Amino acid sequence: MSRFLCDKYAPLKEYTPGEQPQGMKFIKLNTNESPYPPSENVITAAKEQSELLNLYSDPQAKELKKALAERYGTEYENVFVSNGSDEILEFFFMAFCSDRKVAYPQISYGFYPVYAQLFGADAEEIPLKDDLSIDHNDYVAINKNIVIANPNAPTGICLTKNEIEQIVSSNKDNIVLIDEAYVDFGGESSVELVKKYDNIVVCMTFSKSRSLAGGRLGFCFANEKIIQDLEKIKYSTNPYNVNRMTQACGVEAIRNDGYYMQNAKKIICTREYLIGEYKALGFEITDSKANFIFASHSDISGKELYEELRSHGILVRHFSTPRISNFVRISIGTQEDIQTLVSVTKEILKARRAL
Ligand code: PMP
Repeated sequence: MSRFLCDKYAPLKEYTPGEQPQGMKFIKLNTNESPYPPSENVITAAKEQSELLNLYSDPQAKELKKALAERYGTEYENVFVSNGSDEILEFFFMAFCSDRKVAYPQISYGFYPVYAQLFGADAEEIPLKDDLSIDHNDYVAINKNIVIANPNAPTGICLTKNEIEQIVSSNKDNIVLIDEAYVDFGGESSVELVKKYDNIVVCMTFSKSRSLAGGRLGFCFANEKIIQDLEKIKYSTNPYNVNRMTQACGVEAIRNDGYYMQNAKKIICTREYLIGEYKALGFEITDSKANFIFASHSDISGKELYEELRSHGILVRHFSTPRISNFVRISIGTQEDIQTLVSVTKEILKARRAL
């Protein structure tokens, strides 16, 4: 820390991203990216736009917002796009939670507490139930802003749209953000609630099901006035927040929706295969509807399994957070990668039992 950092940022506990090894020496199952490449049209669009990089991008991202509004059945005025959905979360906390109350699950996406601290929110972390699911009743009429990942991370467990609606309708004087980063892998979207309620933001990303993590593209749907507030923050921080290659990639990815939704189905099949194999090996696994599983085993700690897999060239994610330190989170790769994971895991467990 330099002697120039403003006092209020000195205690900030920043977010730690998952490891991003450069070069491909690992089977990378640690940051929930898609194992499938972008569609050809997306790659062509990026190349075309790369020749125009001397020009700024469209600050209104009109084509992209139009494509998203059409795909999700909302009006253009209900769409906001961002540099990764992390930026929507950032703008949300800045715009609506600075010096205000906000509640989110105690075990969830690690960026929520960081933004809460950064923007001085009065944050309440609500514990999960014993089975690591969220009790939606904990959020009914709580009279605070609310942020919930649905499916939750890193458990992958979902709430129903009906449960989300109970939360939204009972907190009318507060704003509820539903983070649907993983919704395309079997969750139930709440996007339709945007038409009915003026206090919900439904946030999604191109990073997971749409193979664009490196392009950084997030989007959200909300009442027009909320979108205007987010635009106000954007124009006060970074008007060209989505670069021109990524905007064009986003438009093409929506045009190629079939390809991406087919890949999501493949990932769901591979997830179910992995759950079956891991259960047979004695793992306990949460009911994940995301592109990852969350698993623990009584014969090996989460940290040891993470380290053993790493030494065999497979990267997964381990969190040392209390209550979940015995788990590993494993992103769903290609069927082939996951078959390798299963056979390596068998070897690791066999070696343990022989000890
Ligand atoms: N929400 C959740 C629950 C996530 O796990 C992630 C991915 N780390 C994000 C949001 C942010 O994703 P991105 O910024 O890549 O859109």
